Amino acid sequence: MSLDPTTLIIINVANVLVIATALPLIMGQGLSTAAARGRRSLIFNAGAWICMLLSSLWSGLSPNLILSTMAMGLLSASQWSLYRALENWLGPRPLRKWLMLLAWIMPAGYALSFTNYQVRVGWSNLLLAGQILIVSRACLYPLNKEFGHTSWRYPMFGCLLVMAVFTTARGVLGAWFTELYPYFLAPSPVNLGALVCANMTLVLGAMSILAAWREEAHQQLHLLTITDPLTGLLNRNGWTQQAHKAIQQAQQRHTSVSVLMLDLDYFKLINDRYGHETGDAALRFFGHAMQQCQRPGDLLARIGGEEFCVLLMDADTSTASSFDKSLREALNSLDTDLLPSVLSFSAGHTLYQGHQDTLEAAMARADSALYRAKAAGRGQLASDYASNPRVHALASL
Ligand code: GH3
Ligand code: MG
Ligand code: MG
Repeated sequence: MSLDPTTLIIINVANVLVIATALPLIMGQGLSTAAARGRRSLIFNAGAWICMLLSSLWSGLSPNLILSTMAMGLLSASQWSLYRALENWLGPRPLRKWLMLLAWIMPAGYALSFTNYQVRVGWSNLLLAGQILIVSRACLYPLNKEFGHTSWRYPMFGCLLVMAVFTTARGVLGAWFTELYPYFLAPSPVNLGALVCANMTLVLGAMSILAAWREEAHQQLHLLTITDPLTGLLNRNGWTQQAHKAIQQAQQRHTSVSVLMLDLDYFKLINDRYGHETGDAALRFFGHAMQQCQRPGDLLARIGGEEFCVLLMDADTSTASSFDKSLREALNSLDTDLLPSVLSFSAGHTLYQGHQDTLEAAMARADSALYRAKAAGRGQLASDYASNPRVHALASL
């Protein structure tokens, strides 16, 4: 059996191009930024190999230099695109600056040392292997659990690691054992192994991109089920899910948690006087104002028409009242062009009462405190009896 590098490269390019063309057909028109970057990475890779093949057709220095340097640039671009796709799928990744540095100096050094085969092959392959290693590491670390089911990272990591090993071997042979790898189409075992491996990597890489895209679509769908489309805050379902988890963590840390229910005052009048669209704008504005007052970890939700719910972490009664105060200030700074009048709201507050309490019971307490705030004239915050023992004492007299 004899394998020849040119055929392997042509097959590789053909496969990459077929896969890159097929991906949008499989994924549909709304290709996400991450999936588009993954696909671009494949196309840059194919482009690099086409340039390499074309460069071998010219014997003159200039076209050869230009095409081979373009190939090196495209290989760097391919790794960079894949890294950026990983950032989209998995959150910030390490060694970004190093990857960018290697991506630039690899083709630059290759062009500068072009007349010296050993230097240019050693330089380009070893620096490319460095880039591949950074991207393969980025597949694994850090593991962000919030990004859901990401087991596609392992085959992608494996593929890139094997590619890094072969690329390093190519660099070492070209630089120090040149007779074993005298030109890039040389049928040496390392070169043939690298090209076969490149084909396998392509198949696994494409599968990983598909799996990552599927997971991403799943996450987006999940996000839709827990988000209120008008304000972008959590909806009741999302708030309840996340509040249960947050309360559990707070109990392990023995920190206090406040639950606030908010209801806009006389909101029906805004709709009746200025129309439903202005009412919607007011709800969006209110959501935005809440976000301005939010601290990391706090959970905000629109749980009904003009009703909102807040879980304040590490928050006692005075923190809850500060939140209420800053929200009222934020509403007062309302741009009067946006809405015809200042929005007012009533709020009910309760403290989560430890292990014997439930989220549902706390929400009911906050709701009855809200009812009292409404009854007392609106535009104010009321705490429930459990969170305010002095009131409780007075009430039981
Ligand atoms: P109160 O001070 O007692 O809370 O009076 P209110 O008018 O705010 O309360 P009420 O429950 O009588 O009316 C709530 C209004 O909220 C009625 C409904 O038309 C409006 N609303 C509910 N959801 C939406 C929405 O998505 N957009 C708009 N524009 N209005 C909504
Ligand atoms: Mg209301
Ligand atoms: Mg209401």
